[in-house]
Amino acid sequence: MPAHRSQPTRRQVLRGAAAAGAGIAFGSRLLGSVAARADTADAPEYDVVVVGAGAAGMTAALVAAKRGLNTLVVEKAAKFGGSAARSGAGIWIPNNEVLLAAGVPDTPAKAAAYLSAVVGSEVPADRQAAFLGNGPEMISFVMRNSPLRFRFMEGYSDYYPELPGGLANGRSVEPDMFDGNLLGAELANLNPAYIPVPNGQVVFSGDYKWLNLALVNVKGAAIALETYDRWLKAAARGVKPLTMGQSLAGALRAGLLQAGVPVWLNTPLVDLRVDAGRVTGVLVTRDGTQTLIRAKYGVVVASGGFEHNGEMRDHYQRQPIGTDWTVGASSNTGDGIAAGLAAGAEVALMDDSWWGPVIPLPDEPYFCLSERTLPGSIIVNQQGARFVNEAAPYSDVVHVMYEKNATAPHIPAWMVIDQNYRNRYLFKDLAPTLPFPDKWYSNGALVRSSTIAAWPPRWASPPRPCRTRSPASTASR
Ligand SMILES: Cc1cc2nc3c(=O)[nH]c(=O)nc-3n(C[C@H](O)[C@H](O)[C@H](O)COP(=O)(O)OP(=O)(O)OC[C@H]3O[C@@H](n4cnc5c(N)ncnc54)[C@H](O)[C@@H]3O)c2cc1C
Repeated sequence: MPAHRSQPTRRQVLRGAAAAGAGIAFGSRLLGSVAARADTADAPEYDVVVVGAGAAGMTAALVAAKRGLNTLVVEKAAKFGGSAARSGAGIWIPNNEVLLAAGVPDTPAKAAAYLSAVVGSEVPADRQAAFLGNGPEMISFVMRNSPLRFRFMEGYSDYYPELPGGLANGRSVEPDMFDGNLLGAELANLNPAYIPVPNGQVVFSGDYKWLNLALVNVKGAAIALETYDRWLKAAARGVKPLTMGQSLAGALRAGLLQAGVPVWLNTPLVDLRVDAGRVTGVLVTRDGTQTLIRAKYGVVVASGGFEHNGEMRDHYQRQPIGTDWTVGASSNTGDGIAAGLAAGAEVALMDDSWWGPVIPLPDEPYFCLSERTLPGSIIVNQQGARFVNEAAPYSDVVHVMYEKNATAPHIPAWMVIDQNYRNRYLFKDLAPTLPFPDKWYSNGALVRSSTIAAWPPRWASPPRPCRTRSPASTASR
């Protein structure tokens, strides 16, 4: 969800640029070219065409199909699920039936006060009301019309519990365990998780903070044991347990299978077809051929973000930026946004993202979540000065990095940890005390030093720790 923002001026500037961006062609394709094509006579027609088989697209397709509409999903990648399948799939929808059944003391008034306090005037009041009014219905709808089930993420606090209407025990839900066997052969087409759950365990998003503490906290240890117990029970029932984004995407896809909605993989949207100011179809590439598909009632563009489009990131976002630090689906290159712009759509909030601090590990950037929040660690800028509450919501940490980078180098920043920290907590998927892989050091993501004086030479001065530390410290960026 959007976090507090402090740069409205830049936002306004970019909004202007975005509105003017309808003429911008990102990449090599010629936007708007389909409008001129006349070969529609034998083009296949569906009532609704959905572009993108992530959580948004598959939910939209399920709704259309359940309303009796002949629906098709076209997906660019060879796998379905997009970033949603890679995600933790924590879902913030106040007052949904799962929360209320779990006894969460939420009310529409509390949720409205909280949302308004968080997003303020950035999001029009009617849009906030639409989200709060329709969100619970959406959760109920997918539960009634697919095998997707949810569980309360107890203790996963609202990000700003101190604001009016905030709930410290949280109001997020996440997918419950889904049996991948229900997908049959289609299971092989599920986009893999960003960090797969180790075989032999069933882990939910809400478990992670406890798993980090498994060596130092009784509840952490109990939850670690429970993850194995869940797996044993699932295996005994012949279940292939999927959780988090894998459950979200898998169960939605199972819903589409049940509803008879085809999902065409390897079928990217190339452009929207526009007739007399109305979108009437899509031009896609299928089996190497550009094909027009007509849409009788409408096209839903749900093709994700532009995290892997360098030109768009340069155009809309603040430097330094690139496509190397994202953990989103590699097929998300903003194609639907570009096609929408070419068709005359407006965009907003393009300068902001669902940001999070990442460590540029050799194989893939690591989205650093619980690790930031634990004792024995600080984050410092390139002068070695601490500059942010490390345990703040991930988006806020990156907002501060960019804000402060304008006056002194804060990107990359360094996370400094000591050996006590390493001995106590899980780091990524490495159990406490285990050494970090050599390649983390050799690619420069990690630097080791046994004295505070010998900090990485690129720092102007040694970091200024604010807690008692052991002599051996490690820094990662
Ligand atoms: C590691 C990670 C963890 C996350 N955890 C959370 C979390 O816990 N809670 C939360 O709320 N959010 C989380 N997110 C963010 C969340 O996953 C995304 O906001 C969400 O998946 C967006 O859903 P979507 O359906 O819009 O896009 P996506 O799920 O990305 O789906 C877009 C789909 O469109 C397809 N596509 C792209 N271009 C085209 C084209 N030209 N033609 C056809 N198809 C196209 C893509 O291949 C993709 O399958 C996380 C993200 C990541 C990466």
